[in-house]
This record gives sequence, structure tokens and C-alpha cells, in this order.
Amino acid sequence: MPNTQPINDNASVTRGIVERAAAAGAVRVWPIGAASVGSKGEALAEIAAMKDAGIVAVSDDGKPVATARLMRQVMDYCRALDLPVIDHCEDPSLFAGGVMREGPRSIRLGLKGIPAQSESICVGRDVEVAMLTGARLHIAHMSTRASLEYVRAAKKQGLPVTCEVTPHHFTLIDEDVRYDSHYKMNPPLASREDRAALIEGLADGSVDAIATDHAPHHPSSKDVEFDRAPFGITGFETALALGLSELLHPGKISLKRLVELFTTGPARVLGIERKIAADEPADLTIFSPDVAWTFRAADSPSKSRNTPFDGRSFRGAPMATVVAGRIVYRR
Ligand SMILES: [Zn+2]
Repeated sequence: MPNTQPINDNASVTRGIVERAAAAGAVRVWPIGAASVGSKGEALAEIAAMKDAGIVAVSDDGKPVATARLMRQVMDYCRALDLPVIDHCEDPSLFAGGVMREGPRSIRLGLKGIPAQSESICVGRDVEVAMLTGARLHIAHMSTRASLEYVRAAKKQGLPVTCEVTPHHFTLIDEDVRYDSHYKMNPPLASREDRAALIEGLADGSVDAIATDHAPHHPSSKDVEFDRAPFGITGFETALALGLSELLHPGKISLKRLVELFTTGPARVLGIERKIAADEPADLTIFSPDVAWTFRAADSPSKSRNTPFDGRSFRGAPMATVVAGRIVYRR
């Protein structure tokens, strides 16, 4: 995602990311470019030049594309370039000042709530603009039943609209939120009913991908009052284990479907061709569906510790990853 410093809103930043990732050689990095300059929601970024440099989508992630008018311009441009537009859907006027999902739990904790409609209003707008332009639209980290209904309706009409769900949104709900900034992310953890709808969507194909929304923060920035802490949690280290533990083993989805959600699903969203075959790049994750283990954030090789899953036990884990035929990680 382009919400880095510097923001990936021009071809030289894109090239820098692609070159550094290639030099590190441990993982494929497909950068997403900003939709607007500085993700400020005013002027269009250099989308065509960034595409030549290697972006696979555009987004003003961290916030939605600012207005329907700008979204129309971005989509017209991206349709011509055959790039998907990925939107972070939260209506800023409803979201304003909120730190968790609005409901009985936010009242009990005395925290300012964000209504579910903050997300679905924005999803509805985006689907309408996608209808107007015919562009590819992808909803990032979708968390509510109402948003899913918009995506389902768009798919039914044959629009190229896709969506993803994060492991934390299919695992945790607003009732799990404690006065601990490791439960603070946007969109916030949703209701029990929303989680049930998301899991149904993951199983029936309405949801196209599982994506982590991995958001590392320095420990000192999260070690403050809930209201003041930044939004976001890490996700890479627990993503597959949560999929196996929370979806596969309880029988909510099949192994085939789970694998699709981590592999061909996201590849299709981004228009990346991948298959396991002779003369194809060998990018593989080898996993055990059954190995029992406990995640200890303190033992993590990550520089960040902002996870609500510290100390959680799992069934299933990645055992090795292979990039371009080379083993880059071994458990
Ligand atoms: Zn986002």
C-alpha cells in the first residue's frame, strides 16, 4: 500500500520499492500506487508512469478516495489502463473521532464509536461509480454485512467488483475489544452478525481474498491511551494460522477454498497470473494444517509487536516458503 513515507505517488518511488524488493529477494512485492498526489484527494497521481514502473493497483489507503468526483476520474483513468482501484472505505464524517465499533461495548468502555454505516456508505458510493465507469473496483479490508451485500449485488450485475476480508475480522468481534491499543484498527472489529456474514461470504465465493492489512507500528507509539494510539495491527505471522484454526478446522470452509483465498483469489484481483507448473516461477508456501503452536510476539523477527494474538494457540502453520525456486523461510 502507498501509505508509507515517502508516499508511493510517482514512478521514482515505485521503482525504488521494486528494486529494493528484488535485491532483498525474500518475497514478491507488487506495489500499489497512490490514486491522488500525496493521497491528499485533490489531483490525480502519475498513474500511467507508476504502472510502467510496476504498480498493480491504485489506492489512497488509510482513507477513501476523497470524493465521488475524484473517484470517477481515478476510475476512468484506471479503466483505460486496466488497473484495479482499491478503496479503504470509511466515510470520514461518520468515522470522525471514533476509535472502535459503535455499540454496547463502546459504551461500556467509554470509547467513541464508529457506526457500521461509515463503511457501507462508502462501499455503496464506490459501487455506484464503478457502475458509471466500468472500472475494476476492489474493497479493502471489508468488515460488515451491508458492505458485502453491495459487493454481492455488483457481482450479480457482472461488474468487476471484488473484496477482501482480514484474518482479524473473521476471528474477533467488537465484544472482544479490551482497553488495549492492540485492538484498535480501522475498520474496527465488527459485530457478531457481521463476522458471520463475512465467513459466509468467504465460503461461498462472494469474498475474493484474505488480506492481512498488516500495519506494523513502533511499540512506543502503541503504548499509549486507546484514544491516542495509531490504528492498525500486524498480521503476516498469524494470517494462515488463523485461517486454518478459525475457518478450516471448525468446518466453516474447505481446504481448497482457504487456499484459493490466499493464492489465486488475490492474484485474480490484481491481474497476476500464477500457477504451479513446469517453467512457472516456483512461489510456494508449504504448510502443516495440524502443527500445534503458540504465537509469542516477543519472539517474532518483526520489529513490531502490535498484535492482539500474542499468546494465542493455533492449529496449523506455514513450514517453509519458496520464492522463485529458493527456500527463503524455514520454520
Ligand atoms: Zn486501509
